[in-house]
Amino acid sequence: MSSSYSELKRQAWQANMEVPRRGLAIYTFGNVSAYDAQRAVFAIKPSGVAYDTLTADDMVVVDLEGNVVEGKLRPSSDTKTHVALYRAFDGIGGIVHTHSTYATAWAQACLPIPIFGTTHADHLAEDVPCTELMTAEAVERDYEAETGVQIIDCFRNRDPHRTPMVLVAGHAPFTWGKTAEKAVYHAVVLEELAKMAHATRTIEPRSKRLPEHLIRKHFERKHGKRAYYGQ
Ligand SMILES: [Zn+2]
Repeated sequence: MSSSYSELKRQAWQANMEVPRRGLAIYTFGNVSAYDAQRAVFAIKPSGVAYDTLTADDMVVVDLEGNVVEGKLRPSSDTKTHVALYRAFDGIGGIVHTHSTYATAWAQACLPIPIFGTTHADHLAEDVPCTELMTAEAVERDYEAETGVQIIDCFRNRDPHRTPMVLVAGHAPFTWGKTAEKAVYHAVVLEELAKMAHATRTIEPRSKRLPEHLIRKHFERKHGKRAYYGQ
């Protein structure tokens, strides 16, 4: 079937398929969306379809009001969170939500992931932030939309481009990026950072954060104005 959203749906599908391939999700867990800023729509995984039967044509195209623009299936139950983030974070082109084990474990502990080493500092210059726990009133109002609010609140004094990931307290991570592919990359990196931080804490519970000068050096050489590393 030809569609003017074919390319966007293909991007979303490809990024979604990368999630189980990288061991970030089982069964139907997780969802990725790819955003088209020009048309202000995104393609997202349908709800309840297992990865091994998922096709590009199954992707659901949704606008920033949350209306389905194209697609036969129901969009992911987390669609309202994606809508909230695309509206709030200018310039992002993809969002990923998984319940990957280690990142989810930190989210369940309601703790930010401390920046213990340079692997972490190569990707973001601070602890992976963790939101507040959602109140009973917010859950009653509109759970998925409020998850977006939790994240946006947590980024009130943060740049989502410098810190492309968050832990939703008691729940699991969300990551994003300039493209859906980059957002998945951040989800994979986050899971690795979460695993490393867990091992670090286990070996030495009093482990300290990396000193600021090393954080700056590693972050700036990859992401600063005069970046020279791995570009
Ligand atoms: Zn979830």
